[in-house]
Amino acid sequence: MGCCGKKPSTGIFARARDTIDEIAANYQERLKICGNCTNLKRFHEIVPLGTPATKLDKCGKCGCFVAAKAVLFNQKCPDRKW
Ligand code: SF4
Repeated sequence: MGCCGKKPSTGIFARARDTIDEIAANYQERLKICGNCTNLKRFHEIVPLGTPATKLDKCGKCGCFVAAKAVLFNQKCPDRKW
């Protein structure tokens, strides 16, 4: 039962699931791109280039924590990589 007392159609759930899947895939793709970027400042310096960025890694261009920035749709890479 939906919040308004009606049973929501399965189409709404399917679209919501597709949107969530798309957001998650986009987020992971951004972290991979940052992981291959020479501007990335790793919190742990021994992590090899190409490893997806983690929550404590910062962008050397803008100074943002990339994991926090990458999750926001309205944010952009300062180097136009995503
Ligand atoms: S946000 Fe852009 S410039 Fe910064 S580390 Fe990620 S890919 Fe590199």
